[in-house]
Formats: sequence, structure tokens, C-alpha cells
Amino acid sequence: MKKDKSEKLFEKAKNYFPGGVNSPVRAFRSVGGTPMFIDRGKGAHIWDADGNEYIDFCCSWGPLILGHANPKVVDAIKQTVEKGSSFGAPTELENKLAELILSNNKFIEKIRFVSSGTEAVMSAIRLARGFTKRNKILKFEGCYHGHSDSLLVKAGSGLVTFGNTSSAGVPEAFVNETIVCPLNNKDAVKEAFSKFKNEIACIIIEPIPANNGLLLQDKDYLQFLRYICTENKSLLIFDEVISGFRIGFTGAAGHYNIKPDIITYGKIIGGGLPVGAYGASSEIMSKISPDGDVYQAGTLSGNPVAMAAGIAQLTECLKPGFYASLERKTQFLIDEIQKAAGKNSKVKIFTVGSIFWLAFTDKEKIQSAEEIDADSMKYFRKIYHELLERGVYLGPSGYEVGFVSEAHTVEDLRKAGEVIGECLKKI
Ligand SMILES: *Cc1c(COP(=O)(O)O)cnc(C)c1O
Repeated sequence: MKKDKSEKLFEKAKNYFPGGVNSPVRAFRSVGGTPMFIDRGKGAHIWDADGNEYIDFCCSWGPLILGHANPKVVDAIKQTVEKGSSFGAPTELENKLAELILSNNKFIEKIRFVSSGTEAVMSAIRLARGFTKRNKILKFEGCYHGHSDSLLVKAGSGLVTFGNTSSAGVPEAFVNETIVCPLNNKDAVKEAFSKFKNEIACIIIEPIPANNGLLLQDKDYLQFLRYICTENKSLLIFDEVISGFRIGFTGAAGHYNIKPDIITYGKIIGGGLPVGAYGASSEIMSKISPDGDVYQAGTLSGNPVAMAAGIAQLTECLKPGFYASLERKTQFLIDEIQKAAGKNSKVKIFTVGSIFWLAFTDKEKIQSAEEIDADSMKYFRKIYHELLERGVYLGPSGYEVGFVSEAHTVEDLRKAGEVIGECLKKI
């Protein structure tokens, strides 16, 4: 496999960017070697600077549910950008995307568009604090919510802890407002609420945790979180930046039929352009400025080009059978992998909707971060470069999930399934 061009580009990039990248996981540190510099994508395929072709299951980390350069999305972007790329004033496209979302989602009544998932979550947390007039937030070990200060916090040693910061530059004082509990553990959450009675503004959870493996929770657990929040007048935030529009149009809220107080979106919502959003009841959203006293703003928020891409993509998602077809494709891929890997393979494939995760484990279920064996990541590292050589592109870390898009054909899935399965068989 030729890599000269990617290697040269990476060497050059190291002069410009820390680690040569603009987001850390892209540097390939957990699998080693040089990241591929991508030249173009079409459907389920991407091509790197050296001309190597891959079937892509990273899909830009989830946003590209229609695959790369979907003609409808590309046309919408072109037509819109011809008319100007940003005005800092309202446009009809914002109404249209909001209408499309709100009229098909019974869990939220109003929405605010921002420019990334991180921004959506950061704003939702401020809203929860402003609405409840409380400071503390409760998050779970193994959930990722973007890189805002309050959320770059990992568990300490006890069951219920003020976390330790997971990044330099986050003040101790911030960390002291964030309580961290293990997933799938009711006692920890109960203990937190009894320890910090009337102090917890919100629980934030990825209802389908998919940033640290795929840690599927029981419905009963999510219902318990709903109940304990209501009981304590705390808000429940579902961070659906990954699961929103992925596990059905209404995401995990619809999948489990549980109504959180605030939902955050990102990734798919922008059709591959930078969009995030948060939504809630009209009552809660009325706290946001200029109606209310919780400030939140953005120069490029509701950007027309990004709105147009989002409208084009979500319109496709709303077509009958869209999600059922994605799920069938994903199941087909998994069956093909397992067929090729054989019975003795070390891998277990966890899945929901069109998300899948290759886990190297004997466990029937993995529902919390501490159940993941860090040592098992060596198996992922072992197969990763062979997968690339054989034309299959996964996110470059064993903790990352894969995504199937509408653009993956049966042929793509059969070929990728065989390649992944054969690589797995060797270890
Ligand atoms: C990706 C992600 C984020 C962060 O979104 P960015 O657009 O990368 O800022 C937050 N929460 C969840 C659940 C995510 O998957």
C-alpha cells in the first residue's frame, strides 16, 4: 500500500498543528502509524492522497448517514452558498430545519441551533443550571459530551466522586461542580442525590453511550434516571449528539420512549457541516436569551449553508423505511463478519440501529466503562493496519464504534464483512 503522500503531508502538518492534526484522535496514536490524508469521498467510499480506496465505516464519526457527497446534500449546499454564505441575521432555512425536526419529534417544543456538539452540550448545561438555580451536574464515566470544562472530568476512586480532571487547564473549582458516577449503577446515583440534596441541576447522559465502546443501558436504568430527576427537581439531559437521527429520527428518546428535559444534537443534524442544537419544552427554552436570562449566542449559528445541508439530509431520513433498511444492512454486515471470523473468534459485536462495536471480550454484555478490558485494545491495534491495506476504514481506536450509512451497498458490506472477519480469525 502506497503511503508516501500521506506521510509527506503528515510531516508538513506537524509544523502547523499540535500532533499534526486539528482533533487528537485523527493522529492515529492509538493504532500507530501515519493517518491517511483523505482526498475525496463518494457514497460509502473514500480515497486517500495516495489513491488508496477504502470502504468507510467512520463516516466522519457519525454525521454522514447518507454517505459521502450525497447528491441531494451537495445540491442543497451549492444552491444556498450561491446566495451568500452567512448574514448574521435570520433566514427562512432555520425555520425549515426547525419545523422538520420539531414536527417529527414529540420530545421537544423549541430548539436553538449552534455550531458543534460541544457547544450544544455546554449551552444545555448552562440552561439546566439557570433553570434550576443549582450548580452541580452529574455525569457518567464512559460518556463523552464534548470538550467543555465542566465535562472533561473522569471518575475518581469512590462510587460517587467529584471527578479528576481529564485535561490540564480545567480548574479544580469546575471539577468540584461535576459529580461522576459509573453507568448502569442505581445505587451510585441514589447516593449522589442523598449527598447533594437540592444541589444537582441535572443528570447528563448519552442514553446510548457510543463514545467509549457501545455501552448499551437497560431501559429500566434510563427510566430510573428519569424518575430520580423528577423526584429531585433536577433536569435530565439526553446528549444525543451521536444517537440523534441515528437510532431513528427521534434518537434514543424515541427508541426508549423516555422524555428527557433537554436534548442535545449534533453530527447528523448538519448533513456533514458544523451544526449542533439543543431543544426542550417551551417553558425551559424560555430561559434562553433574549426571552430569558441564560445567555447563549453565535456569529455563525443557524448558518444558511449548514441549515440547507441539514434539511436535505434529514428529509431523506424521514422517508418511510429509512431506518429499518439501515438496521438490516448493519445486521447483514455483522452476520458476514461473524461468518468469516468463525466460531472461535475473540470478538463480540455489540450493535443498535446502524451503530456497531467490535469488542474483544467473553462477556455477554458490557454496560459500564470499567468492564472494558484496556488490554484487549491490542487486538484492535493488531488488525487495524491490515484492514486498511485490504480497503476497510474504521475509526482509528478500538474504543470507537462503526457506522453504516445508507450509501453502503450489499456488495460493500459483503466485502467489508469478509475482510474484517478474516482479520479477526487470525487473532
Ligand atoms: C461528538 C459528540 C460530542 C461533541 O460534538 P463535537 O461536534 O465534536 O463538538 C458531544 N457529545 C456526544 C455524545 C458526541 O458523540
